[in-house]
Amino acid sequence: QASLKSEVKHPYPDWKPGEPVPYAALCKTFSLVELTTKRLEIMAHCALFLRQVLRLTPDDMLSTVLLMINKLAPDYAGIELGIGESLIMKAIGESTGRSLAVVKQDQKEIGDLGLVAVKSRSTQPTMFKPKALTIRGVHKGLMGIATVTGNGAQGRKVDNIKKLLSSADANGTGKVDITKDKGGPSEAKYIIRFLEGKLRLGLAERTVIVSLAQAMVAHEAAQKGNVPSTGDLEKGESILKTVYSELPSYDVIIPAMLKHGIMNLREHCKLRAGVPLKPMLAKPTKAITEVLDRFEGQTFTCEYKYDGERAQIHYVAKDTTEELSQSTLSATKAVGGGVAAIFSRNSEDLSKKYPDVLAKLPDWVKQETKSFVLDCESVAWDVVEKKVLPFQQLMTRKKKDVRVEDVKVKVCVFAFDLLYLNGEAVVEKSLRERRELLHRSFQPVEGEFSFATAMDGQELDEIQTFLDESVRASCEGLMVKMLDGEESGYEPSKRSRNWLKIKKDYLSGIGDSLDLVVLGAYHGKGKRTSVYGAFLLACYNPGTDTYETVCNIGTGFSEAVLEELHAALSQIVIDRPKPFYAHSAGGQHQPDVWFEPRYVWEVKTADLTLSPRYKAGMKEGLDPGGEKGISLRFPRFIKVRDDKKPGEATSSRQVAEMYRKQESVAKSKGPAADDDF
Ligand code: ATP
Repeated sequence: QASLKSEVKHPYPDWKPGEPVPYAALCKTFSLVELTTKRLEIMAHCALFLRQVLRLTPDDMLSTVLLMINKLAPDYAGIELGIGESLIMKAIGESTGRSLAVVKQDQKEIGDLGLVAVKSRSTQPTMFKPKALTIRGVHKGLMGIATVTGNGAQGRKVDNIKKLLSSADANGTGKVDITKDKGGPSEAKYIIRFLEGKLRLGLAERTVIVSLAQAMVAHEAAQKGNVPSTGDLEKGESILKTVYSELPSYDVIIPAMLKHGIMNLREHCKLRAGVPLKPMLAKPTKAITEVLDRFEGQTFTCEYKYDGERAQIHYVAKDTTEELSQSTLSATKAVGGGVAAIFSRNSEDLSKKYPDVLAKLPDWVKQETKSFVLDCESVAWDVVEKKVLPFQQLMTRKKKDVRVEDVKVKVCVFAFDLLYLNGEAVVEKSLRERRELLHRSFQPVEGEFSFATAMDGQELDEIQTFLDESVRASCEGLMVKMLDGEESGYEPSKRSRNWLKIKKDYLSGIGDSLDLVVLGAYHGKGKRTSVYGAFLLACYNPGTDTYETVCNIGTGFSEAVLEELHAALSQIVIDRPKPFYAHSAGGQHQPDVWFEPRYVWEVKTADLTLSPRYKAGMKEGLDPGGEKGISLRFPRFIKVRDDKKPGEATSSRQVAEMYRKQESVAKSKGPAADDDF
């Protein structure tokens, strides 16, 4: 904060006011960030740079922030780069006149495609001096790469990458020694890393949000000839965080912030239909008694935990004044007298997957309900027996371009929360009030729309009976939620203690399954020679932006599943582990093949143990010797989690929390689990 209060300048020299921000200035910031691991220093570098952009070229704020968080647009816009290593290597080779074989060899030796690009460029003779890159130009170029479709898309993507690379480092900042530091402020390096989806700066989106708030508060104060007070800096941060959690779209927030000022942002940026918010999540528990301890003295409610896919349904009728929502939603689907969309847990648009749900929407929305955002689970439904079907049935549905007349697996939507109703956010109301509004505004239609089955009893016996019933009804267990008071408000994007989940399978185990990223595989033996027989999995550490290995897994797969997995994974084989994989080096523990980090699998385990072979949670201080990571014992494959991206896998901290919980239970019951390595 000290640097924000004085007139400390960002080290990149000023450009002319109003001129496009040089991309080199952002790369300078990245290189400073890369040299430290201290969050406060990282924040100071970002805030100073953002202040310079605000002062000189505020029009570039949006693209600057997007490039900082490695995104091109909000998640719901569905714009993904999806560029694999081989395409990037092709572009590096072609843009620098080196053969693919040479680039591949470099990649084998250096292991970081960003640095391979730097090396390739530094050996390239410069015929002419291309124009320097600007932030808006890079954003536009990357957007062009992401949105290429149709015939020959791959080739055109490579061409577009080449265009960007040939202008990179045109201003001389690219003279870096890749054997020193981390490669310096090279533009080529950061372009490549952006394409790979990992800037690897230890720059979390949370940090960018705080830096943005600080820069804005400091900028506004400076315009009035003041220095910002600590109180104002804190207030700005809190406003921006809240606004972003309800309306996660920089495209909306940044222009509004520039126009109305950060302190007035809440009035201008509110939760609205059309912009999906990150859902509230639950904490795992292992026993009903744990739930009772947590909610002691407070009222809570239990609901069935349906086993399907999370669905956030947005709707606005035509005859409202909610024009902004109407225009955002109109791109998705006209429904009854309005427009609607369904979003996933990840904010991806699922409207093309569930046209059957949208077609029936007018049947369950009451006449007086003009706009809403509902939190639901869509579950496969047995039309004959009139009951819920297991999750596996839902998985057999097509994912895109579904036609209502072709739908074989019907789904019923089970609504459990209401976040927005008739033009107003209701997230701050208590769950009891939200539930009343929910029941008042919609009508159940058998096999199409239902309210989540709930029970408000507070006694252990009642909860046990309700849990048994939920299991008989093909559910995963229960969700137990705070019912009254401030703490029962809906907390977007939080894994909250006010929502607890009890899964039937885990009451005697570790409390929850894990969602892990597949990093590598081992060739199958015996019957499995044509497929991969076992896999190396990892959890995600958002602090260091690395994937930390946690187990090998070879159980829980049918032959058919192994074939499917082989077909998908063999497309994303890479020559060597990415530099952001934390794994044991060398020896018999190396998998036979490595993959791009793309797939997330749900995995069950008997328990957790410490092992020198894995790296999960090494920084959590569980092993006094500092050499062992956490690993899963007897892991078992459950399913592919299509709705999670690798960055949303179970975090190292969550794994450590599970381990600690298990330890404390084990201590109270007897000796801890043996270390079997
Ligand atoms: P899981 O693998 O258990 O679904 P998760 O990380 O996806 O884990 P959690 O917050 O841990 O999500 O568990 C809540 C999930 O359970 C929600 O994302 C939702 O899809 C599902 N669910 C089913 N029924 C309910 C309900 N009644 N209330 C809230 N969520 C429910």
